[in-house]
Amino acid sequence: MKSLHLCVLPGDGIGPEVTAEAVKVMERVCKASGIELRLEYALLGGAAIDEEGIPLPMKTIERCRAADAVLLGAVGGPKWDAVEAHNRPEAGLLGIRAKLGLYANLRPAKVFPPLKNASPLREDIVSKGVDLLVVRELTGGIYFGEKGHTEVDGQDAAYDVELYSVPEIERIAKTAFDMAMARSKKLTSIDKANVLESSRLWRSVINRIAQQYPEVEVGHMYVDNASMQLVRNPSQFDVIVTSNIFGDILSDESAMISGSIGMLPSASLGYSGGGLYEPIHGSAPDIAGQGIANPLATILSLGMMFRYTFRMPEQAAAIEQAVENVLAKYRTPDIAAEGLETVSTSRMGDLVAQEAEKLVAAK
Ligand code: NAD
Repeated sequence: MKSLHLCVLPGDGIGPEVTAEAVKVMERVCKASGIELRLEYALLGGAAIDEEGIPLPMKTIERCRAADAVLLGAVGGPKWDAVEAHNRPEAGLLGIRAKLGLYANLRPAKVFPPLKNASPLREDIVSKGVDLLVVRELTGGIYFGEKGHTEVDGQDAAYDVELYSVPEIERIAKTAFDMAMARSKKLTSIDKANVLESSRLWRSVINRIAQQYPEVEVGHMYVDNASMQLVRNPSQFDVIVTSNIFGDILSDESAMISGSIGMLPSASLGYSGGGLYEPIHGSAPDIAGQGIANPLATILSLGMMFRYTFRMPEQAAAIEQAVENVLAKYRTPDIAAEGLETVSTSRMGDLVAQEAEKLVAAK
């Protein structure tokens, strides 16, 4: 019997509420697939500060490293706002990403047909279908390059250096090409090669790695054009690969096309083959404890886990289809619609878990 070992970091605010629902789905999908599931929990963020005095205890790092994959809720909240920067909940989040060597951030943006009215884009634009994946380099580039202050003409000046090595570009390129192979074999690399030397190197490495993936259709686009094309005609994209800073901006832009923050999953992949999966939203302290948070972003993050870490596309597809089927009849308050039943966080989890189990069992 296949077995999977999952480490759950519920975190703060709505984190524990939404991860509990994803765990329900995980249990039912594993049961229907004949998979033995080993679940372990660890503290991160404010919850860890309260218990252990620091946002990222060693025990948490060890448990994450020992697991096949990690599911994270969200961290942070007003309770810890006064804590000094290096000991705040967010430091736990950045710390765990660094400790697990997560260099590739995957952010899908999909418009679920029942939710097309939630998109801020016109219906004629999204009705062509939007289902893209941004692969962002996460540990290099300008956010990690040399930075500092200097003097120019006797005035204070500051700089940040965008620096990429060939191995850094190669590994993110391979991740993106692998994703393209698993999807519709179309990859767009986004850079600013008309101006930046680092982008020219980026483009030449992408073209070299492309030779190892002859089935993938590769295109290049300048980042300014890409930001326009994403709102003009998002259907033209499938997999996008780009640097840390461009990916930071474009993944937020593309995510918003789907219209609801409670629907957006993400994955960060690293060396070990494992990965960290989390919704893109925060801990939503304004609605925590009320049973009204939307758990679908976390449940869809679990779907990504089946696809990209466990390499079980049938289970991934079943989870995504279950979400779509349930959305046709039920909504959490953030995406409520006339004529459809509004349900609580835990009811939404039950419905998707039941539907996903049924879909897996039917395969
Ligand atoms: P947020 O994403 O928590 O909330 C923004 C708005 O969206 C709120 O009105 C919230 O109620 C709503 N919302 C978010 N997720 C929802 C869901 N699943 N269902 C329904 N509504 C949802 O962002 P914020 O308010 O800027 O930040 C709150 C805290 O979360 C801060 O402490 C911040 O630092 C932290 N944060 C953590 C992460 C993370 O853990 N990855 C990411 C962003 C923010």
